[in-house]
Amino acid sequence: MNCRHCQQPLTLPFIDLGSMPASNAYLSSLEHAAQEKSYPLKVWVCGNCWLAQTEDYSRAEELFTADYAYFSSTSTTWVAHAHRFVDQAIQQLCLSPHSFVLELAANDGYLLRHFLRAGIPCLGVEPTAATAAAAREKGVEIVEEFFGIALANHLRKDYGKADLIVANNVLAHVPDINDFVAGIAAMLKPEGVCSIEFPHLLNLIQQRQFDTIYHEHYSYLSLHSVRTMMQAAGMTVYKVEKLPTHGGSLRVWVALSNGVTVDPSVNCVLAEETEAGMATAEGYRFFQKVIATVAKNFLEFLQQAKHENKIVVAYGAAAKGNTFLNYLQIDSELIPVVFDAALSKQGKFLPGSHIPILPPDQLAQSNPDYVVILPWNLRDEVTAQLKSVVPPHCKFVTAIPELDIR
Ligand SMILES: [Zn+2]
Repeated sequence: MNCRHCQQPLTLPFIDLGSMPASNAYLSSLEHAAQEKSYPLKVWVCGNCWLAQTEDYSRAEELFTADYAYFSSTSTTWVAHAHRFVDQAIQQLCLSPHSFVLELAANDGYLLRHFLRAGIPCLGVEPTAATAAAAREKGVEIVEEFFGIALANHLRKDYGKADLIVANNVLAHVPDINDFVAGIAAMLKPEGVCSIEFPHLLNLIQQRQFDTIYHEHYSYLSLHSVRTMMQAAGMTVYKVEKLPTHGGSLRVWVALSNGVTVDPSVNCVLAEETEAGMATAEGYRFFQKVIATVAKNFLEFLQQAKHENKIVVAYGAAAKGNTFLNYLQIDSELIPVVFDAALSKQGKFLPGSHIPILPPDQLAQSNPDYVVILPWNLRDEVTAQLKSVVPPHCKFVTAIPELDIR
C-alpha cells in the first residue's frame, strides 16, 4: 500500500485497532446482527511526508461514506465558534459585498449564514442531501456535490475564484486528499486565502485519543504533513492557530505560494511537533503499547465492578465511543446500556458492541454506581447535567487519556 499523498510505500505502522464495523452503522434491531460487516481499522504513517492514514479498502470506501446526517447547528458551542470566526475573518481580510466566500463541507449553513447576514456573497459545497436542504432553508446557496479539482473547474467558471475558502473538519475525511487540495488551489484568487481546521495529530498522540480513529476518518493530520501537501499544490501555510475544539485542533491559513510572508506561529508549531518526534519513526512506534495500557486499565475497572455487583452504564453514543468499545471488545454483558439525547439513536443498538441506546430520562431508573462518559471531551458538561439525576454515591468515569473515576 502506498501513501495517499506522496505515493511512497507505507512501512511504518502507527496503530492496529483490530476489525470493527463502521462507527456510524447503528443497528435498528439485533435480528440481522449476525450479518453485520467488520473491516480492519489500521493506521499507517508515511516515513516520507508523515501523513498518518487508514489502511485503504477500496470496496469499503463506498460503505464508509456518511449516509447519516450530522447537523452542525445542533451544537451551540460550534455555532458560536463559527460566528466568532466569521466576524474575525470579515475584519482581518477586509471582506465586502464585492468579495466571494466558498465553504467546503458547508453542512447545514451553520457558518455561511453569518456571511450572508453581513451581505457577503457566499456559496457552500455539501454532498449530504439532508444538511444541504437545511442550509438552503437558511437562504444559503449550496452545490450538492463532492469537492475536488473537477468541481473546482466548474465553480470557477460559474462563480469566479474566491477571496476566502473555509474547510472545517473535512480534510481528514476525504479519500483523495490530493484532488481536494488541488481543487482549493484552483479556486483561490491570487490574493485569496483558505482557512482549514482539523484535529491535531499531536493531541491525538499526547492525549491518547485513539477513539477518534475510525474508518470514515482517512487521514490524521500534523502541520508537517499538511504543509508538505500544500506545498505540492503550489500553496503555503502562512499562519497557524491552536483551537480547543475536538480535543485540540489546528486552524491553518493557506495562500498561493507567490511572495507570501510566513508568520512565526508556523515554525512554532512545527518545532513542537519535531520536539514530540513527529518527523521520526520513534514518534509513532510507541503508541500501540500506550493504548494497550489504557485498554487494560479500563477493562480491569469493569471486571472489578462486575465482581462487586456494581451497576455500570455509559453515556454518549457517538462515533468515538464505538471505536473505544469495539477495540476493547466490550459488549452488553459488561456495559448493559448507553444513554444518549439524540432521538435518531434512541431504541437502536451500537455497532459491534450491540449495547442498546436509551433516552437519558431513563438513566435514574437504572440506579447506576458508575456512569462511563464515552465522549471524554464533554466530561464537565455531562457531569454537571447528570449530577442531580444519578444516586449520590454514583461516580463518573472517563478512560482517556487515563482512567479517571470521580
Ligand atoms: Zn507520504
